[in-house]
Amino acid sequence: MINRIDHIAIAVQDLDAALGTFLNVLGCDPGSVVIEEVPAEKVRVAFLTIGESHIELLEPIGEDGPVSKFIAKNGEGMHHIALATDDLRNETERVTAHGINPLGEPSTGAGGKKIVFLHPRQTNRVLLELVEPNHLSH
Ligand code: ZN
Repeated sequence: MINRIDHIAIAVQDLDAALGTFLNVLGCDPGSVVIEEVPAEKVRVAFLTIGESHIELLEPIGEDGPVSKFIAKNGEGMHHIALATDDLRNETERVTAHGINPLGEPSTGAGGKKIVFLHPRQTNRVLLELVEPNHLSH
């Protein structure tokens, strides 16, 4: 089952500048922000917490990662919506049975969570991420 929106991710050129902006908008505690590099995705990520959900700011590392390519093509802006599930494998099979294909195999994303992306061509040009939060994560 998909339970809630885990996070909304925004592609940014400058993580520190964007973080300042979003801290001002959300009014949340800067001490609660988690910043992490995810070399596999070639991004530096900041998580801002809003209740049970997060805003994920994505800054590309280098020029050949998926977020770098996204910004080159579209500019900064909303990158994906992540939907939380307690059973990533089961939900991936369920959506696949509806003809909606995952982009590759489930992998480990920021915070050590299991994730899989669904192809935006099949979801009205919105990139969706299914995420199984681990209970040690923020
Ligand atoms: Zn994400």
